[in-house]
Amino acid sequence: MGPKAPDTLKQFLGQRVVVDDARPCGVCEWCRQGQRRYCKAPRYGHIVEEPTTHNFGGYADAITLDRQSVLVPISPELPIELATFIVPVGSGAEWLLLDCNLQPGESVAVLGTSRMGLASCVVALHQRAREVVLYGHPGGVDAIRAAKALGVTVRGEPAERAAGDLYDVVVVVTETPASYAARAVEMAAARGRVVMASTSMEPSGLIPEFIRRKGLTLKGGRGASEVALTQAASIVSAQREALNGKIGERYSLEQAEIQIKSLLQSGIARGTHMVISGRS
Ligand SMILES: [Zn+2]
Repeated sequence: MGPKAPDTLKQFLGQRVVVDDARPCGVCEWCRQGQRRYCKAPRYGHIVEEPTTHNFGGYADAITLDRQSVLVPISPELPIELATFIVPVGSGAEWLLLDCNLQPGESVAVLGTSRMGLASCVVALHQRAREVVLYGHPGGVDAIRAAKALGVTVRGEPAERAAGDLYDVVVVVTETPASYAARAVEMAAARGRVVMASTSMEPSGLIPEFIRRKGLTLKGGRGASEVALTQAASIVSAQREALNGKIGERYSLEQAEIQIKSLLQSGIARGTHMVISGRS
């Protein structure tokens, strides 16, 4: 770290940190309003096709940090597959805790058998939700296996016009199929909260009257704030024993290619959380 490095970086010198993949530009309308996670600047891991310094790293041995980088300190002992899981758990914390104010004893449905779906389940379990149910495509085998091991109920595809199974908080973490957005509104209980973290541009069949009739609150789920990432670091550390061996596969660089190719089998995404590490 150079002598001109900003204090926002110097304060973490020598510490183990998570770097948020968002790298806010600092000058756009969102950034100036303090809403940095909505910034559209390229993220760590995005590859910008310009012969400039606009590639900050990601999938690399080193990354460029500056005043705009968001760093969160984490426990030095946390295994790497749990440390990297802090980022999706950060989004789960943003949506369930900060956006929806999930209370202990409430019920939660998560639509999407992906890494993000699993992370949302972990936040709900940590918050002592009465019931946590994961819905979605059976192809997300890794997320389903881990969720079951953690005590989450898995119910397959959500049914149209949910009969009986109504939830205080419903989170949609996938855009396929688009109809999940409509199902989520149907599955919400009276005064329930629904988080749309789907990027779908397709009509979903969502019926506005159900929002009015049940007095629902709809929230847009997009990434995690620094506060949520900090909460996520605490949640993953607190849940370390429960998560150990259930979340995250770890492979060497030599195994990387075959493992990455295995993520999509016959058009079905496995929904895994995978770490490729140079260290064995
Ligand atoms: Zn910006």
